[in-house]
Amino acid sequence: MTGFTDFFPYEHRAFTRHRGVTYPLPINLQTINQFFGMSLSPEQARKLIENQAASSRTGSAGNLRDRAIAEIGEPLYEAFIEGYTAKKWQMDPKRLPASTISRLPVRLTFDSRYFNDVHQGLPASDYASWLQRIASHPFIDISLGTDFFRSSLRTHIADRSLNVPVVYTGPLDKYFDFELGQLGWRTLDFEFQRVAQPDFQGTAVMNEADIDVPYTRTIEFRHFRPDHEVPVAESIIDREFSRSAEQGDEPYYPINSADDRDRLSGYRARAESLQDVYFGGRLGTCKYLDMHMAIASALTLVERIANDRSWVAVANEEAGV
Ligand code: UDP
Repeated sequence: MTGFTDFFPYEHRAFTRHRGVTYPLPINLQTINQFFGMSLSPEQARKLIENQAASSRTGSAGNLRDRAIAEIGEPLYEAFIEGYTAKKWQMDPKRLPASTISRLPVRLTFDSRYFNDVHQGLPASDYASWLQRIASHPFIDISLGTDFFRSSLRTHIADRSLNVPVVYTGPLDKYFDFELGQLGWRTLDFEFQRVAQPDFQGTAVMNEADIDVPYTRTIEFRHFRPDHEVPVAESIIDREFSRSAEQGDEPYYPINSADDRDRLSGYRARAESLQDVYFGGRLGTCKYLDMHMAIASALTLVERIANDRSWVAVANEEAGV
């Protein structure tokens, strides 16, 4: 990836607001001490959480609620997870997969970085320029405004006359015309605002843990470039409102609820059985991939296609090898 863009070092940190008080996220020793009004050591915090988790143990921690309570105990769960999760997913957290929450670290140290990765950064200019650079290769043509579902590509895939691998990155259920039923997806509405303050919230991401605040978080873009002095008296913010993705909406998040799982394995089995079509990205794999995971999975997919004997044979034949 570094062939197409430089990265500048950026370590994501976030905060959350609960009942008028701001706490650091992900939940770490500072969050715990601030919430309980104490000054606990890592060991003391571990014991406190263990006791709280033991007194409200409900199940195997295979779902979001039970996993979260096992890791942070009920009081922290109720403060920081319950309301936010209700707004974000509008679903009983017992029906959501534990993986949705276990992507967030819980730390008994004062390390408040959102991610554990050794190398962290953002593309030096922006994601769009980076993707434009990748796409500017002479072998790449882009057709915009072409609906895959109305294109002749589909017929060519069906009669196997295409002779090139197709990578489909739209929603998995839509590819199969929802034959096994719809998978659950969430989308976001973004409310952008130009505010007459140079610094609106002092950080890039402020979550809202409480259910009575209708949005889940406020993003303030200037804080993604802390190394840039921006000499303007205004700032751009964006509030995120989560809702169910309906026909015509752009889906962002696969819900992967208990109801989705059977359907999903049916769709995955169908996808596997197709010879010329590969499924990529969050929507095509129906996995809650972060950007770095989406990139890694795209690179793995390309390797898989390149190693697939049938495509190597076609490429060799066309090249007269
Ligand atoms: N979450 C929460 N409270 C928070 C942040 C996250 O309950 O303040 C839970 C919530 O269920 C959310 C999940 O953790 O859907 C993953 O959060 P993340 O911040 O990774 O979501 P993303 O940035 O992908 O929207």
